[in-house]
Amino acid sequence: MNYNSTRDSGCIVTAAQAIAQGISQEGGLFVPETLPVLSREDLEKMIGMSYNEKAKMILSRFLTDFTSEELDYCVDSAYNDRKFDSANISEISRVGDSAYLLELWHGPTCAFKDMALQLLPFLMTTSSRKTAPDKEIVVLVATSGDTGKAALEGFADVPHTRMLVFYPENGVSEMQKLQMTTQSGENVSVCAIKGNFDDAQSGVKKIFTDPVIEAELEKNGQMFSSANSINWGRLVPQIVYYIAAYTTLVEQGEIAMGETVNVTVPTGNFGNILAAYYAKLMGLPIGKLICASNRNRVLTDFIRTGVYDRNRDFYTTTSPSMDILISSNLERLLYQLCGKDDAVIRDWFGKLSSEGKYTVSDSVKEKLQADFWGGFCDDEQTAATIKKTFEEYGYLCDTHTAVAVKVYQDYTAETGDKTKCIIASTASPYKFNDAVLAAITDQEIPADPFEQAEMLSRISGTTPPASLMALKTKKVRFTDSVDKEQMVEKVKEMLK
Ligand SMILES: *Cc1c(COP(=O)(O)O)cnc(C)c1O
Repeated sequence: MNYNSTRDSGCIVTAAQAIAQGISQEGGLFVPETLPVLSREDLEKMIGMSYNEKAKMILSRFLTDFTSEELDYCVDSAYNDRKFDSANISEISRVGDSAYLLELWHGPTCAFKDMALQLLPFLMTTSSRKTAPDKEIVVLVATSGDTGKAALEGFADVPHTRMLVFYPENGVSEMQKLQMTTQSGENVSVCAIKGNFDDAQSGVKKIFTDPVIEAELEKNGQMFSSANSINWGRLVPQIVYYIAAYTTLVEQGEIAMGETVNVTVPTGNFGNILAAYYAKLMGLPIGKLICASNRNRVLTDFIRTGVYDRNRDFYTTTSPSMDILISSNLERLLYQLCGKDDAVIRDWFGKLSSEGKYTVSDSVKEKLQADFWGGFCDDEQTAATIKKTFEEYGYLCDTHTAVAVKVYQDYTAETGDKTKCIIASTASPYKFNDAVLAAITDQEIPADPFEQAEMLSRISGTTPPASLMALKTKKVRFTDSVDKEQMVEKVKEMLK
């Protein structure tokens, strides 16, 4: 199977090229030429399989240039009990009659990003061995908090790779910051920027195509790649867990084989929900895809009106990993919906960068609304949902997951659709202690994140993840903070 670029349909690359390169030369994103078909027999075959077996089966359809030995190596190195605290890799908790929280945060950094970023380094080094065997891969990451740590953890001390992570200085939680600034590994570096996530993401995208930097890389025998969800190697592992969860629910007797389920995803860069959409296109019985946003409701407005407009205030919320106004992966969805017309994509995304705004055609809007439903909630509603979910079901969810739970409830109230729903639970509540505590107690909350974790544990009767508590005694290694204009200089420094 080959891959095209969303901004140049004539560009044809293998999976290994797409993953090693990260982003296409002209700025487009790599997408599969056609989607593999998932038949009912395939789904039946998966009943009783381990997560790794399911992953290998699905990945083999997308990464046709990988040998089965290579896939075994990649999958088994990524998903195992040294890295994940659940033998099933992800867990499912039923909340109420028809909602299933798919817990994707049992990996080393306690956020769903681990599901992809534990696998990506193996996919990437395997890919580069095939396509550019002598090059060192330089991975630049812009993070709203969780990607940074998950990428660092995945790439630390991986031979032939280097990594530099940029995060918004005031845009991440205390726990997230500590996770990144204490990261070990000789090949990794972390830098704060005085700006928000969109600034970090735009800065990184610009550096990727900077001719001066490119010449420098060439001279050093290096090449850039991306660990953000613009990289196809981030998306394909995410398709796996929707299919795996569906077959697990069949196995547990919660749903019948072939039964339609909805999916709700707390959304920022549109990667996670896009993976669910791809699973649907492959044949997984998914009905509506419910896109949940926080107060940065650009996607809600887009789904409802067909107008994408980033010219609006940016809010810092209690769900920081969704504080985004430019959702990169929407480009892949729109490429699919407009019939793979690269000229249309160039036009819309050109307008996005020059005017901050574009309007899709009526037919694309219609198709968008047939598959997606958008909703949002603010911090107050997020907190109320954490409290209510805890009191009613004894289930403690993090702020991002709470946004999804609330929007799912709004969806069922508005539409009356009672279809069973898989809700992506994207982070451990202990990554966002202060906001979660403030939601469930009136007691005074200590300033120290570890004391907060102990308090949360006491009140909720749950256990804090060991990897977060271990940060307490780790030394802070990275303290740099730069203006966004200085990001290029930081990169040049690292390349030396
Ligand atoms: C990254 C992240 C999201 C948003 O996922 P996208 O793929 O960017 O839409 C939601 N919740 C958490 C906890 C995250 O880390």
